[in-house]
Amino acid sequence: MWLKESGSAWRKSEEAIDCRQYQVVSVTPHTTAEAQVLQEAVQQLQLQQWTEPHGLGVPVDVMVPPSLVEVFLSGLQAKHIPVQVKITDVQAIIDEQAAKRPVSKSLPRTFDHNKYNSLEEIASILEGVEEEFPSLVTISSAGTTFEGREILVAQVSSDGGETRPVIWIDCGIHAREWISPAVCQYILDELTSGYDTKSEITELLDTYDFHIIPVVNPDGYEYSWTTDRLWRKNRVPNEGVLECHGVDVNRNFEVAFGEPGASDEPCSELYQGPEAFSEDESKAVRDGIEALGSRVTVFYSLHAYSQDWMTPYGYTDALPDDYDEMIRVVEAGVEALEDVFGTSYTYGSVANTMQLNQDRSHSLLGLQESATPPSKGSYPGGEQTLDFESHFVPRSHPAAHIGLEDVTSGASYDWAYEIANIPYVNTIQLRDEGTWGFLLPEEEILPTAEETFAVDSSEQIVKGGICHCSELVRPSVSAESQEVSIGGYV
Ligand SMILES: [Zn+2]
Repeated sequence: MWLKESGSAWRKSEEAIDCRQYQVVSVTPHTTAEAQVLQEAVQQLQLQQWTEPHGLGVPVDVMVPPSLVEVFLSGLQAKHIPVQVKITDVQAIIDEQAAKRPVSKSLPRTFDHNKYNSLEEIASILEGVEEEFPSLVTISSAGTTFEGREILVAQVSSDGGETRPVIWIDCGIHAREWISPAVCQYILDELTSGYDTKSEITELLDTYDFHIIPVVNPDGYEYSWTTDRLWRKNRVPNEGVLECHGVDVNRNFEVAFGEPGASDEPCSELYQGPEAFSEDESKAVRDGIEALGSRVTVFYSLHAYSQDWMTPYGYTDALPDDYDEMIRVVEAGVEALEDVFGTSYTYGSVANTMQLNQDRSHSLLGLQESATPPSKGSYPGGEQTLDFESHFVPRSHPAAHIGLEDVTSGASYDWAYEIANIPYVNTIQLRDEGTWGFLLPEEEILPTAEETFAVDSSEQIVKGGICHCSELVRPSVSAESQEVSIGGYV
């Protein structure tokens, strides 16, 4: 039924990719059979999915080259599967956005949140920020990529960065999700410019250190600027498969590695790599977190798009032991985010959110209705402390759910929770819900960033979702716990 025309394997070319008249089509399967028809079409026609299947009744966005639009649409329509064309010419949008982007004569030294910044610009801005706030910010390299680029990490600390609990935020693990590095830059800007000028930021930074990686995957990010706007993976050459580059860094972590939810095909967008932690980018995240040991209290990894705020697990629909506590804080964050502009987010564990999506019912997401209401104290929150005795001792590993299709294996958030034992683990799919998808216009950078992390200067409150840190049960980090060995689990 799905006739593949020659030349449709467009992703194999090393030439600059032209997506002229490529369409983005939203397909909504309502039965398992319809979902199978869609999957068959995507595989046989070698189409690029912009979103993963999120369960029945939830649209999947698929990009279709012009030569295949008719066969794809007519095939689905013959089966009465609802389709909606969201974007009629991907390249036209890419070109229009690039033409509008101002070309700066010299590299910037300060943030500009009205535009997406290139890798070179981000590196220059980070240098500028470190110069401007030398007692607050340290920029260092978390690793070097295959193509020789540094993976820069910004440490923000008001007391030298040695003792406090750490909030980890990484962005740009997937190259084409440009809003993610943009939001990381905004958070860094808010933290640095807000210290000593905004009371909530001052309090936040007198309680926590932040470690922020604006671009985990610089090779991929650069490639998405120069050659293929819709590139996802890193840029390593894959042995024996000359035409297919790249590993999906977020399938390369050593947790449920190689289980369902990743691919062992080097040409796949979800290629997991030859072995866990084979990639410099995943190693950089791992090593950065390991070096901080039990100080890492909150982990955020920012992605796009779909407006989902998710916790572990991704590889199984089982819920982690600490799910109720994590989701209690997530709910506070989502509420705060939605309060800013009314943007709607779905939340829950990755596997369950991907299955259920539109349904935010607590019972379906496995939440206890009797969960303790959130406390609203300012940080440090409450009297309780987390038990750090077990920190960095890997947790138990539930079996992957056999037969569940909407799972994700080898992902950073599951590693962060299960292996690194971080108490609060979040992965967030930022704006939008598919109107623009990865091509989110620059006008949406600021509102996206503000709802995700923003301080209201008049009320002096953190009003966005990150970091809703007043909700955290603040860990006590003793000198002893900082010395917990982390050598045993690599
Ligand atoms: Zn992503």
